[in-house]
Amino acid sequence: MFAGLPVRTLLKETLDVFSLCTMIRNEGTQGVLMNHTSSSSSGFGVVRLAGRVLLDMLYPPRCPVCERILLPEETLVCRQCADSLPYVEEPFCMCCGKPLLHAEKELCADCETRGHLFHEGRAVFLYEKKLRLSVNRMKFLNRREYIPFFGKCLSDLYAGMQPFWRAQCLIPVPMHPKKRAMRGYDQAVLLARALSAECGLPVEENLLVRTRLTQSSKKLGRSERRKNLRGVFRIHPEAVIVQSVILPHR
Ligand SMILES: [Zn+2]
Ligand SMILES: [Zn+2]
Repeated sequence: MFAGLPVRTLLKETLDVFSLCTMIRNEGTQGVLMNHTSSSSSGFGVVRLAGRVLLDMLYPPRCPVCERILLPEETLVCRQCADSLPYVEEPFCMCCGKPLLHAEKELCADCETRGHLFHEGRAVFLYEKKLRLSVNRMKFLNRREYIPFFGKCLSDLYAGMQPFWRAQCLIPVPMHPKKRAMRGYDQAVLLARALSAECGLPVEENLLVRTRLTQSSKKLGRSERRKNLRGVFRIHPEAVIVQSVILPHR
């Protein structure tokens, strides 16, 4: 848990907190809010940059897919993985986004026979072993440094959908507070923020409310999953959702 990359995450956050405390001490809370984006030109920025360089030397950034140390010219993902990422390509189901065997079909067998609670869903990647392990490390092993990579992938996909979906906000499906306290973070919120940074849509973190803790749905079938989640979410009474992108926890 504390070896390798999680230590990098821990140190990076310690550095961020240290930098923030330094700013608050030097400039007051108002200064933090007003100058956060221009901090790189201040003394604070130099300290932070030096810390980042040191951090990169001690715990160099790694590829989120194969875990190899990234070369200086590689960003977010190594070149080899970038060239072989298992993107979902056409033809895919116009409803759920699953790949289709036959291009002449519009819907997969599931969507032809059963309805969904959403109109259109899209997936960036096929759920292949390397990506599955990467997502698991991000979710369960504190590899929060993968978030910018997945945020960029979501953003690239969403850029093609924006003219049609015209979403007004991003809504991360909420994690139960107890679970969030145990894990220390909510990856759906972090992903939504990363996507927001790329595409500019605001993140609405409080529109959906999770009313109870549920069992993990990993080993449940479709009907058991629905039953497990029935009545779990409610919309904040003051919210009005017109169109949105929902980031699920799977
Ligand atoms: Zn790689
Ligand atoms: Zn489908």
